[in-house]
Amino acid sequence: MVTAYIGLGSNLADPRAQLRRAFTALGQLPHSRLLTRSSLYRSAPMGPPDQPHYLNAVAALESGLAPLDLLAGLQAIEAAHQRVRGERWGPRTLDLDLLLYGDQTIDQATLTVPHPGLYERNFVLYPLAEIAPGLEIPGHGALGELLARCERGSLVVVEKSPSGAA
Ligand code: ATP
Ligand code: MG
Ligand code: MG
Repeated sequence: MVTAYIGLGSNLADPRAQLRRAFTALGQLPHSRLLTRSSLYRSAPMGPPDQPHYLNAVAALESGLAPLDLLAGLQAIEAAHQRVRGERWGPRTLDLDLLLYGDQTIDQATLTVPHPGLYERNFVLYPLAEIAPGLEIPGHGALGELLARCERGSLVVVEKSPSGAA
């Protein structure tokens, strides 16, 4: 079993409902259990600016799935949420990115872990720090130091996590 961290994002078709259903679906993956999840954050779109803003969150999952099997599980959940891949970073019903898989570094054709965007994205670092403040990022040091270098920008909490953090 490892602890994996999943980054969630949505900006279409009721993002709040998309993220709620996604947390449930994550916990229903084989050999997996949802440990905790962050608050929901509203963020400015990273890609083309002419799209709705995003809701983002991070979930911690305890999983016995191998990394590529976990990625396949995430993509199956995206597909079940009618995810259609259009332009890069374009609008989507649901994006599930594998941010971290235990302390492993993975460099394969279809899977890079830690996720390459993790180090500089406010909508990843802030929710991740909410649920795992002391985390060490393989190859990149303390999460707290990455966070200190990342401006919060327009990121706001729109719904606090049930555990009352943030
Ligand atoms: P970004 O990855 O920059 O956040 P995105 O999430 O919009 O962009 P996607 O269209 O969801 O990109 O994914 C494109 C491909 O990225 C997937 O087909 C997958 O194989 C690959 N990929 C590589 N590493 C990861 C990872 N850690 N988590 C999810 N997908 C990954
Ligand atoms: Mg993404
Ligand atoms: Mg993705």
